[in-house]
Amino acid sequence: MSAVDSLPPLREVIARHGLAARKSLGQNFLLDLNITARIARAAGIGPGDLVYEVGPGPGGLTRALLAAGATVVAVERDERCLAALAEVAAAYAPGRLTVIPGDALEIDEPAVLGHRPAKVVANLPYNVGTALLIRWLSAGPWPPWWQSLTLMFQREVADRLTAAPRSDAYSRLTVLAQWRAQARHHFDLSPKAFVPPPKVTSTVVGLVPLAVPPHPCRLGALEVVTANAFGQRRKMLRQSLKGLAVPAETLLERAGIVPTARAEELDVAAFARLARALDQGPAPS
Ligand code: SAM
Repeated sequence: MSAVDSLPPLREVIARHGLAARKSLGQNFLLDLNITARIARAAGIGPGDLVYEVGPGPGGLTRALLAAGATVVAVERDERCLAALAEVAAAYAPGRLTVIPGDALEIDEPAVLGHRPAKVVANLPYNVGTALLIRWLSAGPWPPWWQSLTLMFQREVADRLTAAPRSDAYSRLTVLAQWRAQARHHFDLSPKAFVPPPKVTSTVVGLVPLAVPPHPCRLGALEVVTANAFGQRRKMLRQSLKGLAVPAETLLERAGIVPTARAEELDVAAFARLARALDQGPAPS
């Protein structure tokens, strides 16, 4: 274990504060500060960066971010971790680490970040990771408040973010992510890297928002067409897109898509055309 700072090893912190991991909170801790430093490097964190971290837990990743020179605002739901995080804050200059007790799904991020742009870095709790990602991808004005997302996911979720059409991993999440952001696979981590080890391999993924998304459409319409198309991904689109405000045949014709195509064959541009076709409303009779 490398010494990124003068604080005690994480095993000792966890023992002293009684932080036995809780499954209900998605707790799989990273204790190796070499690994947390690698995540901070993947995120490109350097002096002066403002980082928003979800779920700092005992503070392993937080310490790497601070050691890289960032100012960190972190939201943690488990009150048992707050005393350990206060020790981390005390080891750095005042204001370098702010810990907000609470649920990341309820936080008004721009407000807690003082309306400054921030890089999001997190070893996410798996039970809320996808919900948080969708929330960040659905941010109001675009480009959003976040400059980048560097997130730990189960490899299966990470594969969906970087998938290409006609692959098994290509899904609704792929389209929603790639519509507005560029996603890349940084590196995998074996279950052994965590305490306790999760059942599956994990992957650190990076997402950078596209300043001007190349396939403009309304997010709400894109959500509707992707939910229907992938809700029945093995069916032809003339079937899976039935029951929307515009008949399936009209939608497909407007979007220039053959009615026998299936969801996994369409690229992001085609889904955006379908969303725009939906927003044109029913054809005048
Ligand atoms: N960052 C630490 C690390 O890398 O070792 C802990 C990561 S652990 C996978 C996930 C953390 O998120 C836990 O500390 C857990 O208590 C916290 N957490 C779970 N649900 C949360 C929520 N809804 N809002 C904020 N934190 C949450």
